[in-house]
Amino acid sequence: DKAHVVVVGGGSGGATAAKYLKKYSPELNVTLVEPNARYYTCYGSNWVLGGIVDMDFIEQTYGALESRHGVKVVQDRVTAVDADGRNVRLASGETLQYDKLVMSPGIDFRYDRTEGISEADAERIPHAWKAGDQTRILRQQLEDMPNGGTFVMVAPPNPFRCPPGPYERVSLIANYFKQEKPRSKIIILDQKDGFSKQGLFEEGWAQEYGDMIEWRPASDGGLVEEVDVRNMTAVTEAGFERVEADVMNFIPAQRANQIVHDAGLTNAEGWCPVRQDTFRSERDDNIYVLGDASVAGAMPKSGHSANTQGKMVAASISHELAGRDPVTPTAVNTCYSLVTPDYGISVAAVYQFEDGQMAGVEGAGGVSPTGASSRFREQEAQYTRGWYAGITADIWG
Ligand code: FAD
Repeated sequence: DKAHVVVVGGGSGGATAAKYLKKYSPELNVTLVEPNARYYTCYGSNWVLGGIVDMDFIEQTYGALESRHGVKVVQDRVTAVDADGRNVRLASGETLQYDKLVMSPGIDFRYDRTEGISEADAERIPHAWKAGDQTRILRQQLEDMPNGGTFVMVAPPNPFRCPPGPYERVSLIANYFKQEKPRSKIIILDQKDGFSKQGLFEEGWAQEYGDMIEWRPASDGGLVEEVDVRNMTAVTEAGFERVEADVMNFIPAQRANQIVHDAGLTNAEGWCPVRQDTFRSERDDNIYVLGDASVAGAMPKSGHSANTQGKMVAASISHELAGRDPVTPTAVNTCYSLVTPDYGISVAAVYQFEDGQMAGVEGAGGVSPTGASSRFREQEAQYTRGWYAGITADIWG
C-alpha cells in the first residue's frame, strides 16, 4: 500500500513540495488540491501594473505537474482538516485520507485593523496582493487615471508577503506615469518606519523619478486610521490629515490563510509555528506548513523562500517515510526588484537551522551596492528576468 501525501495549495510552496515529493520518492501517491485552474504569480504582477508585460506572462498552469511528474491535481478547495482522522474535506463534499499533509495556502487580510474599509471594497480600492483579477482591476484604474492624478498606496505593517514588493510596485507605476502621465504624483502612506532595500530604492527614485514619489513613514504622517472609501481618501492619525487619491492601493495587514486558522495550526499573532528545520507543524506531527503561512525565522515571506521550503518539506517527508535519517538542510532566498525595466536591485541570503530557528549565515549574501554603474543595474534587471524564468520552471515546469 503506497503512502499518500496531500498538498494544499498550488502556489509557490505547495507546487514545489508536490513536484519534489515525486522526484525524491516516485513511489509515493501525491495529490495537490488547488481551487484555481490558473495561478497568477505575484512576482511579475508589479511588471503588469507598470505595463511592461501582460497577464499571460504571469500565468502558470498545472499540466506539467500531472503529465511530467505524476502529481494528481484536484481542482477543489479544502474546507476542513481532521487531524485526528488524518483526512481533509473538500468543497465538493469528497474526503481525502492522508499519511502526511502539506499546507501552503498563503495569506489572508486583516481589514479589521483600519476603520471604514473591508474586503468588500476591494473592487473599488484593490489590494492586488493576491495576483489575478485584483491585478487587472488596479492596472485598469491606473490606465483610466488622468495625467496629473494622485496614486496613493497604503503600505502594510510587518510581517507581510514580499518585503520589497510595495516599493517595486511604486517604482514601476512611476515609470509608467513618467512616460504616459508625467504630471502625476505618488504618495506612499507607510504603516512602518522603514522598508527592505530602502537606501537602494530611494537612490533609484531620486535618479529616475525626481520628486514624483513621496514616502511618509508611520511616525511622520503615514499611519492610516481610516479609509473613506466613497471619497477615496485616507485619514491619517497625525493631525487627522485627509489624503485624497485618484487611485488608491490599500494593502492590508496580513495573517496566515483562513484554512490553517480553522485547522488550529496558528499562534496568537495569526501565523503557523513550525519546527523550522523541517517545517513540521508544532501542533501536529503529520502536518507541515510552509511558505507565507509559516513562522520561518529570518526567512522572509517570499516565493523563493516558499520554493526552498517546499524542497525541505519534500526531503523531510521522503526520508521519514523511507526510514532514512533526517538531513540538515541549508536554505536560500533572493528578492530581485525592478526600479525601471532596465534597473534591477537585489537582496540575497543563505540560512541555516540554529538554536531552533532558520538564521542568516554570516558573510553570505547581501544587497546590491549603492552608487553602482548603470551597466551594473542593467545586468541585475536581466538577472531579475532570469530569476523569474528559473523559479517558475522549477515550480510548475
Ligand atoms: P501562494 O503562492 O499564495 O499559494 C497559495 C495557494 O493556496 C493559492 O494558489 C491558493 O489558491 C491556494 N489555497 C488557499 N486556500 C486554499 C484551500 N482552502 N484549499 C486549497 N487551496 C487553497 N516573492 C519572490 O520570491 N520574489 C518576488 O519578486 C516577489 N514579488 C512579489 C510581488 C508582489 C506584488 C507580491 C504580492 C508578492 C511577491 N512575492 C515575491 C511573494 C510571493 O508571491 C509569495 O511569498 C509566495 O507566493 C508564497 O507562496 P505560498 O505557497 O505561501 O502562497
